[in-house]
Amino acid sequence: MQQDFFRHPPDDASVSRKLRELARENSKLRLFRAGRSVLGREIPAIGFGNLKNAVIFVGATHGLEWLTCSLLIRFAEDFGAAWASGGELAEISVSRAMAGRGLVIVPLLNPDGVNIALYGPESAGSLARSVERMQAEYPDKGWQANARGVDLNHNFDAGWQEIRAMEIEAGFVNPGPTRYGGPFPHSEPETQAILHMMAAFSPRRLYSFHSQGEEIFWEYGGIPVPGSETIAQTLSALSGYRLIENSGLASHAGLKDWYIKTFRRPGFTVEIGKGQNPLPIEDLAPIYARLLPMMTAAAFL
Ligand SMILES: [Zn+2]
Repeated sequence: MQQDFFRHPPDDASVSRKLRELARENSKLRLFRAGRSVLGREIPAIGFGNLKNAVIFVGATHGLEWLTCSLLIRFAEDFGAAWASGGELAEISVSRAMAGRGLVIVPLLNPDGVNIALYGPESAGSLARSVERMQAEYPDKGWQANARGVDLNHNFDAGWQEIRAMEIEAGFVNPGPTRYGGPFPHSEPETQAILHMMAAFSPRRLYSFHSQGEEIFWEYGGIPVPGSETIAQTLSALSGYRLIENSGLASHAGLKDWYIKTFRRPGFTVEIGKGQNPLPIEDLAPIYARLLPMMTAAAFL
């Protein structure tokens, strides 16, 4: 029984059960595996429609930001139901808007990191002792990284050297809970899982969901991307989230940065909610209500 799914923080086991249930109930929803984590946990993916040049949504890249996973699965459930029934979502006819198009959702890119954030180092199996040591070095930092202490959103090949220098200057020299970008770009299996999906589907848009701040980042390195600013303004108008034009020090080696650099297509980081990570599960309902029109539009814009 998964009625409780949206009332508790999601982990790999509950996500897997919930997604299997959705796939059973909805013939429009295809479930597949994007890859596996460092500890061998499944990185699930949901596909709707024509996956070639689909829009892609990615969540839970950071351990403490598991509410993005709940948000994406909540959206997948309603989006799939509206498509299957020919109904509307946020006053948009999903089956009509999505004709010939597709959406891929990767709700839980970092299953090991989410489990560590929720249940502590013990959940890291064979790496439990190592996670414990890394956590002890930074006792005031919550767990954002994968099970090897690599921050996946610092692991992409877009200004990786630049951010590595900044990390070292800020004291993040070794693997740890946050902001260590790995031994080299794309060193982690979770990063590689996304790269494989990108190569397979060549997505027309990327949305990377993080928390928190009620902000949307839409640029990387001044690279001109046709249509990006207009879409960013639409997203902002629909959500009331603030557009951040220049993300300064944080703006390297993230998934959105690599996507923009590589594909030169519109890519966005959406920082959901407001408060301190992890945002409580009680924030899911109000955040979903606020973001539903934006997420529905993002699927076909
Ligand atoms: Zn994040």
